[in-house]
This record gives sequence, structure tokens and C-alpha cells, in this order.
Amino acid sequence: MQQLNSKPTSSVANIDLIKQVNCAIIYKVIEQHAPISRVKIAKVSKLAPASVTKITRYLIESGIVTETERQASTGGRCAISLAPNAKNINVIAIKIGRKLLSLSIYNLTGHKSVDRRINVEDKTGAQLITLLQTEIQTLIDDEQQQGNQVSALSVTLSGLIDPKQGKVIYTALNKLNNVALVDILEEKFNIPTFIGNHTRALALAEHYFGTTQENQDSIVISIHHGVGSGIIIQGKVLLGVNCNIGEIGHIQVNPIGKQCHCGNFGCLETEVGDTVIVEKVQQAIAQGASTSLDSEILTIDSIYQAAATGDPLCEQVVAKAASYLGKTIAILINMLNPEKIVIAGKITAAQNTLFNAIQQCIVHQSLPDFQKRVVISTSELHADSTIASFSLIKQAIYEGDLLQKMRIKI
Ligand SMILES: [Zn+2]
Repeated sequence: MQQLNSKPTSSVANIDLIKQVNCAIIYKVIEQHAPISRVKIAKVSKLAPASVTKITRYLIESGIVTETERQASTGGRCAISLAPNAKNINVIAIKIGRKLLSLSIYNLTGHKSVDRRINVEDKTGAQLITLLQTEIQTLIDDEQQQGNQVSALSVTLSGLIDPKQGKVIYTALNKLNNVALVDILEEKFNIPTFIGNHTRALALAEHYFGTTQENQDSIVISIHHGVGSGIIIQGKVLLGVNCNIGEIGHIQVNPIGKQCHCGNFGCLETEVGDTVIVEKVQQAIAQGASTSLDSEILTIDSIYQAAATGDPLCEQVVAKAASYLGKTIAILINMLNPEKIVIAGKITAAQNTLFNAIQQCIVHQSLPDFQKRVVISTSELHADSTIASFSLIKQAIYEGDLLQKMRIKI
């Protein structure tokens, strides 16, 4: 006879999970209804008053939530209200990009007070980590001088990341391969730290603050130097046991295409990435194609702008790239049946050409019932380089991970 798996560890894990879920519910209620009393939190959340008292105590202890003004008495005992702590507790959200290191200071309500950009084109590996540590230390010192505390750090990068182990597994550009970045930063600063793949984090940011707030199932596709995706299913980023799901940039779309850094040929990102598009336009001009653009000062922005205003060469190059992208999107629709697909990247400047080609593929290559439901849109947050990173901290607050890292046992 088959036995059900009833190891004691699984029931402990279940209790922890229930506490985490309750913590998330209570924090979200406080965030949405602040200032709110504990009595009202219990009413809105439908959780037992004892649980609300206990969990709010931990949230206050962590500094994430603060007690605010007393509500006017309505005959009974005065109730103290609770609200997210918007003063004196800040976090640092970081993006390590191909050319730029971006660092921002946010408070817990999402207000950004500091934004720094540092050119890191000539920095990789250990040099990049040293620079990162110096920049973080400067921000922490500045905050302390103003009487503020930095309660969390988060970092997003392109490439393969293991958020659970806090490791960068592989980055093609920053050469931070098999680096335990969270351990390095937590050891240096003694501040809870979170990392994630930038596009997966952008999908989360769109879900918390942007265009997919009303959707449970969505996909963000980001097109820069490379191409990646972040998939949200039932409100959660899909990561899986191996922590990396959505590497659509390495789907082969052109078997006779050029070799990708992954070793294979004709990957989506060797046909659609910004750098490739500049190369394709350059090649066409060298072969005699006419364009309104000055071939001496060709930039990706000018190409997408020219495609948007009807330059035939740029339109043609963008449409070809968009058809490869559309093919991949049709596969994603058939596999995941999402409510919304969000495109992020400079390529959205040529939105008409881009969307027309994608729509053609969706119509001819995905299930009619699925294509009726899906909406294609552009990212609202893509231009903000650190909001994706900040959303990792937001997720850690919602899911109790920040409290756990602060060693506050819920
Ligand atoms: Zn590849």
C-alpha cells in the first residue's frame, strides 16, 4: 500500500508557510488601508485578532511598520493605527547593467530619493564587486548622516541567477560567474540582501506597480543587448527548482543564423537584440540599401525612430526581427495562455511595425481561443532602471523573507 508522505519536516514547513502567507496578507492590508487599527486589520484580513497582534508586533519590531496617530475614540478604547514605515527606514535597490551600475534609495512606500549612475563598461568580475561595495558604503554613510537606516539591499542583473542561494550563476557581460553575491554583500554590510534576474524582477515590478497589476498571468519580454522574459503565473514569478525559467533569448528561430554566446546558432537574441539590429542596418547600408539615416552616426534610438516614421530600410529590419519575436510569442501563448504580454525595450519606439508583425504571428500560430484573450502592451516601468530591483524587496516583505533575514521569527 502506498504511504502518504508525512515527514515531520513537511508539517513544520507548512506552518511556516501559513505564517508567511498571513504576514503577507496583514502587510498588504496595512499598505492598502493605512492608517488602520489592529481591529480593522483583523476585520479586513479575516484573520484571528491574536494572529494580527502577533504578526504586527513582528512587523513593528522589524521597522517595516510603524504605529501612527490614535484614532478618535468612538466610546470604546482608543486604537493605535498602523502604517508602513515611510520615515527613517530606507532600502537600496541596484541594477548591474552592461554599461551602467544604477543605485537608488527608496523608502518602503516606493518613494525614490536618490538615483546614481556609474559607468562600469571597463569593470567586470572582482573589480566590479569592489566598485559596487564602495558605492553601497557611500550611500549607507550618507543615509546614516541624515539619521536614516538602510534595512535591505537588492541587486538585479541579466543572466542566470539563483535567488534562493543568492548566487550569480552566469552573466555573459559582467563576468560574475558562480559568485555568491548575497553572502559577499551580507558579510560586508550586515544588511538583508536579495538578488534576481532583471527581467524576472521587471515582471514582478509590472505586477506590483505597472501594467499587469490587474492580471494574474502575464509575461514580460525584454529586448536589449539580449532577450529574456519573466513569467508571472497566479501572481507569482515562475522560477522553478532550478531558479531560471524564461530564457527565451536562446530559442532557435533561424537555423542558419549567426552563432550566439551560448554556443548555438540563430538564437532569438542573435536576431532581435539591439546590437544585432544596428549591425543589420549597417550591413544593408554597406550593400547599397537607401535610408534617411546618416550611416556615420547610426544609433539604435535613431533606427527605431526612423522605423516609426516610415524609413523603409529600418521598418524592414525591425519587421523581420519582430516576426522572429512574434513566432516566439505565439509559442508562449500556446504554452502558457497568458492574459497579457508586455514588451520592454527601446524597440517599442517602433511600436506600430513591431506590434503589426507580432500580431500576424499570433493570428496564424496560436490557438484562436487563447489569442482572443491575450493583450499585447508596452512596459510602463522599463525606463526606470531600479524599480525591478526594488520589487524584489517588496516581494521579500510580502512573503516574510525580509523578516526571516532580520532573524525575526514569525
Ligand atoms: Zn543562445
